Amino acid sequence: MVDFFQSVLTSALGKNDVVLRHQPIGGGCINQAVRLTTVSGNYFLKWNKAQVDMFEKESLGLKLLSKSGKVSIPKVYQSGELEGKGYLLMEYIEPGKMDRGFWQQLGNGLAEMHKSTNAQFGLNHDNYIGRLYQKNTFHADWVDFFINCRLIPQIKLARNAGLISTDIVARFETLYLQLNDLMPVEKPALLHGDLWSGNIHCDQEKRPYLIDPAVYYGHREAELAFTQLFGGFDELFYNSYENTYPLMSGFDSRVDLFNLYPLLVHLNLFGSSYLGSIVNTLKKFA
Ligand code: ADP
Repeated sequence: MVDFFQSVLTSALGKNDVVLRHQPIGGGCINQAVRLTTVSGNYFLKWNKAQVDMFEKESLGLKLLSKSGKVSIPKVYQSGELEGKGYLLMEYIEPGKMDRGFWQQLGNGLAEMHKSTNAQFGLNHDNYIGRLYQKNTFHADWVDFFINCRLIPQIKLARNAGLISTDIVARFETLYLQLNDLMPVEKPALLHGDLWSGNIHCDQEKRPYLIDPAVYYGHREAELAFTQLFGGFDELFYNSYENTYPLMSGFDSRVDLFNLYPLLVHLNLFGSSYLGSIVNTLKKFA
């Protein structure tokens, strides 16, 4: 692997930097990752063999979030393909310990980022969530986008894999008719798109960084709901978000509805243990 690491480094930085050490980094769901220590400093490299365009899309997403200027994003050096592997080389952010200020900065920064808007919901290119394809065709209406680009593609995948029954599909179809009444109108907001605790990172100065996004312009409640999927973030995060950009009333009652999308993604990625939560939400709303 050292040859691969060295080739990436030379290609990305265009100089005669030398890899001195490489340490595997765990915690990712999909890819392999290392910290590279070179003559010039430290770098974070991740790669996989299967989907070489995945990192091109991740790199575009990271740059878009970074352009908003509201949250910290590791600098992206290069994404590409070498020796049959797709890779992404980034700035290495030495991890630190999250404190109160971290959560407050994250809540405030995310709320400010969500104020970055767009004429329509979607994005000018499709991308990935985990290793699953994520369709971002522009729609003027959030509910149309949520149904056509978020629920239907994942339901089709799950159905083809035999993970859900026709009865569940029918329940989703009933739900579609109610979504306009259930989801409040919001402007399209720039979203990270895969915001769970594994995709926030803290540096040594306790500053929050966002990593591994699945970016699109969406309903900001979808992002906030996603953060609650696996236990939720610190309360200070939600207070700080609310102070900067208050949510519409009744958000708590909509969380499960928005989380149908990440739950379907998890069903397709990791199997049927996520089905129970999906069925519970469908029973509640459809
Ligand atoms: P995957 O695409 O496989 O889910 P991630 O992008 O989530 O991988 O990265 C895996 C782990 O590597 C993260 O949980 C985080 O701890 C660490 N990590 C990610 N990006 C950086 C970075 N730029 N600097 C240091 N560590 C990072």
